Amino acid sequence: MFTIDNSGKCGLVFGIANHRSLAMGIARKLQESGATLAITYQNERLKGMVEKAIDGIQNPLLLECDVSNDDHLGRTFDAVKAEFGGLDFVVHSVAYAMKEDLEGMYRDTSRGGFRLALEISAYSLLPMARLAAPLMKGRNGSLVALSYLGAERAVASYNVMGTAKAALEQAVKQLALDLGPDGIRINAISAGPVNTLAARGIGGFTGILKVYEERAPLRRNITADEVGSAALFLLSDMASGVTGTTLHVDSGYHILG
Ligand code: NAD
Repeated sequence: MFTIDNSGKCGLVFGIANHRSLAMGIARKLQESGATLAITYQNERLKGMVEKAIDGIQNPLLLECDVSNDDHLGRTFDAVKAEFGGLDFVVHSVAYAMKEDLEGMYRDTSRGGFRLALEISAYSLLPMARLAAPLMKGRNGSLVALSYLGAERAVASYNVMGTAKAALEQAVKQLALDLGPDGIRINAISAGPVNTLAARGIGGFTGILKVYEERAPLRRNITADEVGSAALFLLSDMASGVTGTTLHVDSGYHILG
């Protein structure tokens, strides 16, 4: 059987909250491929849950990082440099919008809610790319960010998060242009709905799961492990010619008319 061998490589994973997190599916696949991992948790409140979730990950470097805090981001990449000497992979699996902005009318999104959603869910990719680039130089580094179909279509209740995902996917393209000359790649995965902490905050989420099950070409929902496998491919040298793209991992739902 052909396997991807990432032994000797190291990755930094943002966005694990618990065992259901899409970032956890990615971390599992990276670990299976032999990579060493640094894993961040958002704050002290989530630390215990993250520690429990990553129980099976061997010797992870565990770091606190709120991505809205430049000091946290700087410290995180400094710690990675001190521990690993460089970096091969970054996983951006982080998003946030206020609960009231993920239901009702999009036009009612407050100025502050709009700013917050775009800052956490899209802007945060820029400092990550900026800080990762010097650590990835000469190592064919690669970044992956998590998106959703709401970036391309109008999805009820997804509201401002759709705007944030559109910004994120465009940022991936723009960053591909920045990073490409250094041999660094960046791509997005547009995942189908998966029952996670963040997803449960979206109005009518269980209805969305049902629609995918009934209508997607594969007639089922995807798993975090399938997102993990796709991320493993995009992050590895198997995807050495792929950058600036969005790969849909959604049972084919996005092709429907
Ligand atoms: P999740 O709740 O497990 O993960 C979201 C993560 O974002 C959490 O770990 C949380 O701590 C982190 N986060 C939020 N604000 C942060 C901040 N200020 N600083 C640091 N971290 C912060 O949910 P998930 O579904 O695994 O979400 C991961 C990514 O996948 C998100 O970008 C989400 O939009 C995307 N996505 C999810 C689905 C889905 O249906 N679950 C589908 C497509 C895309």
